[in-house]
Order: sequence, then structure tokens, then C-alpha cells
Amino acid sequence: MRPEALAAMTAELGTVGNPSSLHSSGRRARRVVEESREAIAAVLGVSAGDVVFTSGGTEADNLAVKGLYRARRAADGRRTRVLASSVEHHAVLDPVEHLGAAEGAEVEWLEVDHVGRLRTDLLEKRLLGDPSSVALVTVMWANNEVGTTQPIAEVAALCAEHGVPLHTDAVQALGALEVDASTVDSLAVSAHKVGGPHGVGALVLRRGLALEPLLHGGGQERDVRSGTLDAPSIAGFAAAVLASEADRAVRTARVRRLRDDLVARVSAAIDGVTRNGDPVDNLPGIAHLSFDGCAGDALLLLLDAAGVECSRGSACSAGVPRPSHVLLAMGLDPSTAMSSLRFSLGHTSRASDVDRLLEVLPGAVARARRAGPSR
Ligand code: PLP
Repeated sequence: MRPEALAAMTAELGTVGNPSSLHSSGRRARRVVEESREAIAAVLGVSAGDVVFTSGGTEADNLAVKGLYRARRAADGRRTRVLASSVEHHAVLDPVEHLGAAEGAEVEWLEVDHVGRLRTDLLEKRLLGDPSSVALVTVMWANNEVGTTQPIAEVAALCAEHGVPLHTDAVQALGALEVDASTVDSLAVSAHKVGGPHGVGALVLRRGLALEPLLHGGGQERDVRSGTLDAPSIAGFAAAVLASEADRAVRTARVRRLRDDLVARVSAAIDGVTRNGDPVDNLPGIAHLSFDGCAGDALLLLLDAAGVECSRGSACSAGVPRPSHVLLAMGLDPSTAMSSLRFSLGHTSRASDVDRLLEVLPGAVARARRAGPSR
């Protein structure tokens, strides 16, 4: 966690007060929540009333996808189509699949090109077909595996033109790119991606957009998300958002230089390395590489033993021995997909970390290649 977030959260953990209580302690906690909401809203370019606190990105995505689908379909039974990019995080992918399997949604996976960028021409064709049958479109702002950023402004313009709400998962984009949530109808963010605590996030939801809640109870958060608010985590979230926005330009330029150096040096030192994702429009801290002829898992464990921690595919679904759906959607064959690793850099990364990787990676790749590729 960023020190600012840790300080804000621990200060709050020592106090009492439920933000929904009317007594003095409750009103004090409410003030912390509302000031945090205002700070986060200002960074995202929306008004405070648009921000709904959740338990994180996964809940925000579920709330948007299921909530918008159910509300839009209830208002008009013909709205059964859900258009979702084929490179979404599982927090979007799985609720979309659930709607298809259990609630009669007709799911259409939107194509991406070989760098993982959405084919907006094909989205437009699908919208033109029959916009009144579309419940929602969901396209992430930036991809968590390969780092490719999506043409969200163009997608938003297409959706607005056809009167279809757009949800975007901006969990990876916040803190890395400029995120203007006022350009979309619904947007998910998560505190732990910007140096805040785990287990808190938000859905930014345009006022007036009908959405069926997932949780029913005390009616907190505009009746959209019942449950006692976690004031300490929310305070830590806001402090992290403010700190990461304050140093975003300088930090991301530094991280981008480190990442570019990592990719150049690894490519020069080792044969058979391919970089995945958009080489220009991407997240600054992600280097996603395929290593011909070695199993990504084996390489990951060899690197871990040498003190270098990285991920195979999405960290959130690591451990599941399947090629990444993102890489398959980009057209990689399954065996190349299984020989890929994601190296992530953040605000604590230093040049010495890249040096250390270069010390151990060539030997680890040679060993993993002797063991052979994944079957
Ligand atoms: N969406 C994306 C793109 C992510 O990278 C993640 C987590 O890694 C999530 C959603 C889930 O967010 P959370 O961990 O806050 O539930």
C-alpha cells in the first residue's frame, strides 16, 4: 500500500462510527466517506453522487453487468443481447457467461485484432443490426494481461449513437492512464490497483441509469448497494487515488522507460521471445512475453526460486492450467499462449529489479526449454 493510504486507513481503523448512524460518531464517519467520495469523483471527472462504493472491482463489474442487463430486460423484454469484448477480465466474462447460461441472454463476444484491440468496425455492424435488442455493451478500458488499451472514446460514441449503455472495467487503467468516467455510462475501479487496500472499489454509475441491485438490505449507496460502508478502507482508497493521480505523469513515464528497457534487453539476450499486446497504446507497467519452446509455468517457478515474481496469464486465475482466453482471442495458438509470462512493474520497481531479471532469465529459459513446452 502507498504510505498515504496506510496512514488514512489506520487513522480511521481506531475510531468508531457507522456512516449510516445519526449520532455524532456516525456523522463523523459519514463525513470521511463523503469526502473520500468527492475526492475519487473529482479524479474521475464525475460528480460525487455517481460513485457507488463496493467490495472491489469484481463486485462493481458484477453489479454493472447483471444489474444493467436485468433492469434493461425488465423494461423491454426484447433486450436480450449482451455485447462483450472477448478479452474481458473474468470479473466481467463470468457474469456475462452466467447471463447467457441462466437468464436467457444472447451473448456476442466482440472480436479483437492480433494486439488485443477491439474491432470497432465489427462492433458497429452488430449495433447497426438491431440496437433495440441490445441490453448493454461491455468493453474494458485496458487489458490486465497484455496491457492493450481500448478505443473507449470511439466505443462510447457508437453506444451513445445507438442508445445502448456502455460499461467499462477501468480497474487497470486507474492510476496508469487518464480516466474520464463521464464519457461512459458505468465504470468499475478497485483500490488495490492504485496502492489502496484490498477489498474496496467503486462503480461509477451515471445518474438516472436504471440498475437492478445485487444486494438488498439497508438501502445504502442510493439503494444500489446495501451494506454498512467500510469507512477505513474507503479513506485508504481515496488517499491512494489522490496520491497516484498526483504523481501519475512522472511515475508512469519512469515505469514505461523501465518496462521498455526490460523488453529490449530480454529480446536482445534471448532468442525466440515475442512481445504480446499493442506496442503503442498500452499500460506502462506490463511486459507480456512469449518464450518459444518452454512451459510458462515451469519458467515462472524457476524465476520465483530466483526471487523474481511474475504471472502466467491473469494473476486472478493463475493456477488454472488453461491457455489464456485473451491470448487465444488475439489469435495466438494454445501452445504459444501457454509459453507466455506477464512481468508487471509498479511504483516500487527500480532499474535494479530489471537487472536482476536479466541475470536469471536466460538460464531459467534454457532450463525450461530443456524440459519442453506445455502439452
Ligand atoms: N478487472 C480487472 C481488469 C482486474 O485486473 C481485476 C483484478 O486484478 C479485477 C477486475 C478484479 O478486481 P478486484 O480484485 O478488486 O475484485
